[in-house]
Amino acid sequence: EERVVAPREQDVDSWQYSLRPRRLMEYIGQDQVKNNLSIFVQAALARNEALDHVLLYGPPGLGKTTLAGIIANELGVNFRITSGPAIERPGDLASLLTNLGDKDVLFIDEIHRLSRAVEEVLYSAMEDYALDIIIGKGPSARSIRLDLPKFTLVGATTKAGALAAPLRDRFGVICRLEYYETDHLVCIVNRAAEILKVDIEPRGALEIARRSRGTPRIANRLLKRVRDFAQVTGNGVITDTIADKALALLEVDKRGLDKTDRSMLTAIIKKFNGGPVGLDTLAAAISEETETIEDVYEPFLLQLGLIARTPRGRVATPAAYAHLNIPYKEKSDA
Ligand code: ADP
Repeated sequence: EERVVAPREQDVDSWQYSLRPRRLMEYIGQDQVKNNLSIFVQAALARNEALDHVLLYGPPGLGKTTLAGIIANELGVNFRITSGPAIERPGDLASLLTNLGDKDVLFIDEIHRLSRAVEEVLYSAMEDYALDIIIGKGPSARSIRLDLPKFTLVGATTKAGALAAPLRDRFGVICRLEYYETDHLVCIVNRAAEILKVDIEPRGALEIARRSRGTPRIANRLLKRVRDFAQVTGNGVITDTIADKALALLEVDKRGLDKTDRSMLTAIIKKFNGGPVGLDTLAAAISEETETIEDVYEPFLLQLGLIARTPRGRVATPAAYAHLNIPYKEKSDA
């Protein structure tokens, strides 16, 4: 099954040919984050120092990886990409770090998934630009300290709260990425359309932007699907009518909810009487992973005000009933 909201799937197009902006000026939206980073980058350049370590957090597809690449570009240094689960042993991290050049940017995606042992090696690397490694075994084992180049670690995670405090504390810059406003998504869709050489009418771009869950990755993906539809059933031009038809076929509704969002809301309402229901129970009820619901679905539904968090679990709001055309009954124990 192909999903519009695929949580972990990486963009299929390679970095080089992708729709990723390369400079801060091309990066649309997130103005506060952009302004702050621009100052920190300029200051680091002026002092000829490595930029402080940066933590980027927010839901998938909002542009964390893109921003990390831009930081490296703006600093004029090399950019190395890896992810928490890919660094299995301390030795893997050691070889990554010792291969960095002066002031390079190392990007670790899903940094909350680093193992404890790796995380501990990272502490001294981030703080002292040094690695303490043990050589040999038993009584002859000794620890040596290896100096590392000054580097910038850019970490990305969906939730800053998922990070151990000692790790979080070692980031000098912490930026939270927000869901994008519709007008910013319109700019993102238009920019991508230009790169892909797709003809798109302003109202077509607006339709796609509105239904992209505030997420650039989804906006770009929907644009590609709608483009196919326009090519095959129309004259290649993306109008609002074409966009609406294509998105309906993809089961993306007027507010950008997909099948999983709707089955989650329906389950809360029908199976759990509107809630509260715990995340694990809900996940099991719709055969979805708890982590995916937590990282991808819940934040967006919360943002739209379709669900609410209570101490005893998630509840569907009256707006959710209205969205699904289900009559809302006031509950006596609420
Ligand atoms: P994340 O790392 O947060 O999951 P990515 O950086 O991979 O997200 O972004 C997903 C896609 O969305 C990128 O390929 C890029 O084309 C697009 N994108 C993200 N942020 C922006 C932005 N601010 N302006 C334009 N395009 C963006």
